[in-house]
Amino acid sequence: MKVVLATSNKGKVREIIELLHDREVFPYTDLIEGFEIIEDGDTFKENALIKARAVYTALGDPEAIVIADDSGISVDVLGGAPGIYSARYGGEGASDRDNLLKLVKSLKEKNFQTSPAHYTAAIAIVSREGENCVHGWMHGDVITELRGENGFGYDPIFIPSGYVQTLGELASDVKKGLSHRSKGLELAKILIDQIKFLRSHAGSTATK
Ligand code: IMP
Repeated sequence: MKVVLATSNKGKVREIIELLHDREVFPYTDLIEGFEIIEDGDTFKENALIKARAVYTALGDPEAIVIADDSGISVDVLGGAPGIYSARYGGEGASDRDNLLKLVKSLKEKNFQTSPAHYTAAIAIVSREGENCVHGWMHGDVITELRGENGFGYDPIFIPSGYVQTLGELASDVKKGLSHRSKGLELAKILIDQIKFLRSHAGSTATK
């Protein structure tokens, strides 16, 4: 069964393939030419579904199961910002580093050295059986000091609950066990297994 990721972001592809380790998983750009998807939803869920639908339609393959992830960080003292705008918090075309520095600046401007925060991942699954979306969260605190080189994005300022190190300092295996994306993908695996079961069951009753 072909599981297709609606992303060409190498970091995400690597993380998702690792987390869905026992499955045949391809980025959609291995199958068709990459194209721009306008993520104009108001929630992580809407944006994940927009991406998964767009790729499912473009593939035109009824066997495909398309997975899309939309994620970001929400900071309490900033009223939940940057939220769904996490990838472009520093402006259009901003790098991960620009976005991170913008977040540190926003905290300092409000005279905060720290704030509770959480990451959200929405994972959409679109196939001929229909559309679904599951979520995973990781709670913790953000700080205004950048610490560590591991992970990506906002990880150098995010301290997960129960730890004293940032995700930049913690080993990638520790992040894997805690992350919003891991938690969402665990649920997505259950849905993929259900689709698998439905398809194999439909096949066996059709031949009886
Ligand atoms: P998306 O690719 O539209 O889902 O945007 C995700 C945004 O949230 C990017 O700016 C990432 O840097 C940030 N983000 C999502 N997950 C993580 C994470 O695990 N660590 C650090 N930043 C993340």
